[in-house]
Amino acid sequence: MGHRPLSTYTGSCHCGAVVFTIATDFPELTTCDCSICRRKNALMVKVHENEFKLLQGEESLTLYQFHTHTAKHYFCKVCGIYPFHRKRVTPDFVGINVFCLEGFDPEGIAVSTTIGAGMA
Ligand SMILES: [Zn+2]
Repeated sequence: MGHRPLSTYTGSCHCGAVVFTIATDFPELTTCDCSICRRKNALMVKVHENEFKLLQGEESLTLYQFHTHTAKHYFCKVCGIYPFHRKRVTPDFVGINVFCLEGFDPEGIAVSTTIGAGMA
């Protein structure tokens, strides 16, 4: 167990239109019970926006907003994969869908449950 080193991962949607990198030491993974994450069964890692880089695919992303329209949920409009979002309570952070990351192994990383129902 213990802390992982900060490392860089590449992530993409299914069709490959959207490609991004993140740097993180995976302090924890979060599930979210907001109305949208519950439907997607997403498992997310939160990274600061400085550690997130969208390499390509900005034009392929569709922005989905609901409720207060502050949280931003991004989807690939070609394949429908949901690679990341920004939440209302943490606008400087990007939540990354860890299943979009190449070579990522969730083994040994704590999973916490976010109280997302009120913040969607
Ligand atoms: Zn795609």
